[in-house]
Amino acid sequence: MEGLAQNLERVREALARAAVRSGRRPEDVTLVAVTKEVQVPRILEAVALGVTDLGENRYQEAREKLGRVPGVRWHFIGHLQRNKVKYVLESFELVHSLDRAALAEEIDRHARRRGRPARVLVQVNLTGDPRRHGVLPGDLPRLLEACALLPGLRVEGLMTIAPPAPTPEGARPYFRRLFELAQEQRQRGLERVSLDHLSMGMSDDFVPAVEEGATMVRLGRALFGERRGGRP
Ligand SMILES: *Cc1c(COP(=O)(O)O)cnc(C)c1O
Repeated sequence: MEGLAQNLERVREALARAAVRSGRRPEDVTLVAVTKEVQVPRILEAVALGVTDLGENRYQEAREKLGRVPGVRWHFIGHLQRNKVKYVLESFELVHSLDRAALAEEIDRHARRRGRPARVLVQVNLTGDPRRHGVLPGDLPRLLEACALLPGLRVEGLMTIAPPAPTPEGARPYFRRLFELAQEQRQRGLERVSLDHLSMGMSDDFVPAVEEGATMVRLGRALFGERRGGRP
């Protein structure tokens, strides 16, 4: 318990300082606590310490936790398969990982059936490695155009995962690039594509991410410690 409380305090202070350095208020940056491989009792400890937003990257794993942690907002941050869309929309406030038109259409279909627009971020792959998830920057304009035609979608921002770097500073150019992309695309004024949010920054690189304009950071290890499985 003490470990978690201390980690949280350290993270909140670093977040607040970075927000102020970027000309914003601490409350302008949402801390999304990533709870993959974290058990429910420990998640409840984090919630008792004031954490309001939780992130999971696999529906299968998240499913058993969802109903057991009341009063929080869940964020879906992992690769999303079309056959999980229905369930994800039932429980998650925001999908961070829209990366292709077929998925956008599936989300739109279920959102309209539910009678409630789905809030999404588009994941952008800035690593130069085509095997990674996310739309390539060159394909982003066309994907956003496709999204703008779907009345059940609200594209509220962009998300990225910086490639591993020896120091946090190594990630900064990727965050700067995402900020620029959002600015460029916002100017097009596409319908239902507001792009107010940037989800960027993980345990190793959240300080430069916030300095470069992140409105959401997704932190696992910095709060809960190393994951046993060690998966990313
Ligand atoms: C696991 C994960 C995180 C958190 O990673 P940490 O390095 O533990 O902070 C953030 N975003 C995504 C998409 C993840 O899968």
